[in-house]
Amino acid sequence: MSVNITFLGGSGTVTGSKYLVRHADQCVLVDCGLFQGYKQLRLRNWTPLPLAPDQVDAVLLTHAHLDHSGYLPLLAKEGFSGHVWASRGTKDLCQILWPDSGHIQEEDALFANRHALSKHSPALPLYTRQDAQQALPLIKAVDFGKVITPLPGWKATFSAAGHILGASSILLEVAGRRILFSGDLGRPDDLIMNPPDAAPQADTVLIESTYGDRIHPQDNLLSELAPALARVAKRGGVAVVPVFAVGRAQALLHAIHLLKMKGEIPSSLPIFLDSPMAVHTTHLFENHPGEHRLSRQDTYALTHSATMVNSTDESRALASRHGPMVILSASGMATGGRVLHHLAHYAGDHRNMIVLTGYQAPGTRGDTLAHAAQSVRIHGRDVSVNAEVVQLQSASAHADANQLLVWLRTMPEAPSQVYVVHGEPGPADTLRSRIKRELGWRAMVPEHGSTWPT
Ligand SMILES: [Zn+2]
Repeated sequence: MSVNITFLGGSGTVTGSKYLVRHADQCVLVDCGLFQGYKQLRLRNWTPLPLAPDQVDAVLLTHAHLDHSGYLPLLAKEGFSGHVWASRGTKDLCQILWPDSGHIQEEDALFANRHALSKHSPALPLYTRQDAQQALPLIKAVDFGKVITPLPGWKATFSAAGHILGASSILLEVAGRRILFSGDLGRPDDLIMNPPDAAPQADTVLIESTYGDRIHPQDNLLSELAPALARVAKRGGVAVVPVFAVGRAQALLHAIHLLKMKGEIPSSLPIFLDSPMAVHTTHLFENHPGEHRLSRQDTYALTHSATMVNSTDESRALASRHGPMVILSASGMATGGRVLHHLAHYAGDHRNMIVLTGYQAPGTRGDTLAHAAQSVRIHGRDVSVNAEVVQLQSASAHADANQLLVWLRTMPEAPSQVYVVHGEPGPADTLRSRIKRELGWRAMVPEHGSTWPT
């Protein structure tokens, strides 16, 4: 009997990853992510899936980022009650990310109701913090390299993908077919994460293509960050750094620590990490020493080189401090979170700086800032942007196009089909044509909602 895959998200976009694998009457969902960015994408979160949630038998998660895991609380709220298989790191991170996501959904609904922004009255959250907490016990932790049986007749093996703590590639085997999901792949030269494991043999591969048309510059994070922070420190300004709480916040903290040690930026430059989630995640590096490059001393420095800001009062107090200082705060694409208050407060002054640290999805405020906008809309008002905007090219937690091809080449034999996913249309198609031309493999970019055999 055949095995097929339906692309329910993460095709033609970097968000909403959901791949439904069906065999006989069994259904396994690989990744269960939220759509983010443009409103027409976010609206897809409200469109019911083409099958009832209780028809999904099991979910496998490649990693905890919400565009891969953040739909799960809704799936569970609507009737899914199977197991969610995830690496230990992913399980730990979901405990932090899901309740926070529920909280943000509640806040957004409150905001919409208060300002009568929604056509629906009252506006409802996609799910609440409580829904998220109720979904957490479904997660079952998996060790890298161990074969698990998510359902009778199905096997899955997780390997390290080097993108964030817990990030995995997943090999799924059913009915004699081997399907490999790359997940988000880290870069082999990442400052803090270990390189991705080699790809195992598979018949079908789904590969991400976030940077399918880009090659990362030779510059490293340190050489890019040093002059920017030295400049803002010299003019007494404030650097606001929107960070991805999970992953890049820690890479930046480590880079800043190294720059201070080398004397390339003043050792007295105050650094604040204003994101309870990022603070929490930073501590998790101590529990997963096998996945990253940081020594025990580095890990210690990571948690001690910045002032950790937890309460909202402490966060608000930052607004009355003078520069120079650096504030790292989530979210990384400035779509929400505390960083919005700092941007609203500091973007107007030309002495200040906004440092963008990674991929900025189209339609997000981070993307607007990256395109030299003169103003940006925050909490219903236009904030003028006079601060210097710096976009780091080397802070990405994703492999570039060449590194994606290198990873594919680690497969012992050519697969019969590659599906290029998790990319905007341009990057996805560029990677598809390189796979065809340089590897001679069959590759295609599946349409959203389409079903293909494996
Ligand atoms: Zn990710």
